[in-house]
Amino acid sequence: MHVYDAVVIGAGQAGLSASYHLKRLGIDHVVLDAAERPGGAWQHRWDSLTMADVHGVADLPDAAAPGGSGDRANVVVPAWFGDYETTHALPVERPARVDRVTSQGELLVVHAGSRSWRGRTIVNATGTWDRPFVPYYPGADTFRGEQLHTVDYPGPEHFRGKRVLVVGGGASAVQFLGELAPITDTLWVTRRVPVWNEGGFDGRAAIGRVLDRVREGRPPASVVSVTGLALRPQERLAESLGAYRRRPMFTRIEPDGVRWSEASTGSDAALEAVDVILWATGFRPAVEHLAPLHLRTRYGGIALQSGGSDVQTAVTAAADPRVQLVGYGPSASTIGATRAGRAAALAVRRYLAETVGMAADTVGMAAETATA
Ligand SMILES: Cc1cc2nc3c(=O)[nH]c(=O)nc-3n(C[C@H](O)[C@H](O)[C@H](O)COP(=O)(O)OP(=O)(O)OC[C@H]3O[C@@H](n4cnc5c(N)ncnc54)[C@H](O)[C@@H]3O)c2cc1C
Repeated sequence: MHVYDAVVIGAGQAGLSASYHLKRLGIDHVVLDAAERPGGAWQHRWDSLTMADVHGVADLPDAAAPGGSGDRANVVVPAWFGDYETTHALPVERPARVDRVTSQGELLVVHAGSRSWRGRTIVNATGTWDRPFVPYYPGADTFRGEQLHTVDYPGPEHFRGKRVLVVGGGASAVQFLGELAPITDTLWVTRRVPVWNEGGFDGRAAIGRVLDRVREGRPPASVVSVTGLALRPQERLAESLGAYRRRPMFTRIEPDGVRWSEASTGSDAALEAVDVILWATGFRPAVEHLAPLHLRTRYGGIALQSGGSDVQTAVTAAADPRVQLVGYGPSASTIGATRAGRAAALAVRRYLAETVGMAADTVGMAAETATA
């Protein structure tokens, strides 16, 4: 069986950036993507999310991102990714959902059902969309209404006339409330008091906090969760309707709604009847297929080696230098994904030079100066 120098898993922003740089460095690789079509997680975003709504999609190497517009993000970004794959002739194979990566001596074997690929290294770029997270609350299975997660959001019209409880303190919850409050009755609960960032935030410091967690091998917090929240012009109407008056988490779920205990309200136990619970409670890294490599620390996360001066270049698994993780932890944003892709390609080249004796200058040293 052919042995690739690198097997990239996932063809979202992080995987495409990695593949671009691997190609420039002359490193023999393949990109395996579970999806039927190009677009990474963007192809699954809800229809009402336009390019003007997104927080900003960063450029890919050598390709400016499509700007803000009223066009649907789930059409524009996938088309841009598709063009990118074609223009740069990136070696993407799909659909190929990797279910397991095992170690065989010096090599890594990447399995997707009955198919497998062998590589000296892997670049894992599987994002988070495939692992939606819903916290456990007692009584959830007794609820007679509808429960949806961000991944299921069907657009605001679906909720007209229904009382909707939005759970979660992230950007998606803020966006959903902005769309729903003008057309229906909403309630908002979050675990922590939301941090509003009217005056901007220090992105580098925020990402640095996520990096500190992954250096220690703790499960990464999302970058968005540490940057704070901001209301955009399209959310001002919802704000004036009181949609962003947040309540603490309820204690349990009942057939017709949710209940706060006496301890949490400071007075009587309170029940709010709701028709829908919309869990905007985020995602976890989609890395279960890496379990056979035993990369997790006792804290449950995958520790990354420190990556020099740029906080988004920490990509190499501390437990196994053959494994790079991009779009994970501090690089889980589009700009982070683009930068980490380059860092991963350089780390792969370093590993190959050290272990296989591949001379660094035979694999496109010039690309080292390429802009990320
Ligand atoms: C609702 C939402 C809105 C966001 N908006 C913004 C924004 O405006 N700006 C911003 O910078 N960031 C935003 N983010 C974060 C941003 O989307 C991500 O950090 C970035 O796009 C992720 O890119 P990625 O390549 O890491 O992952 P993805 O885009 O998720 O790509 C991962 C790819 O890997 C594939 N894959 C997954 N598992 C496997 C497997 N086992 N085998 C093979 N392939 C697999 C998937 O099919 C997918 O194609 C948002 C996130 C969410 C959830």
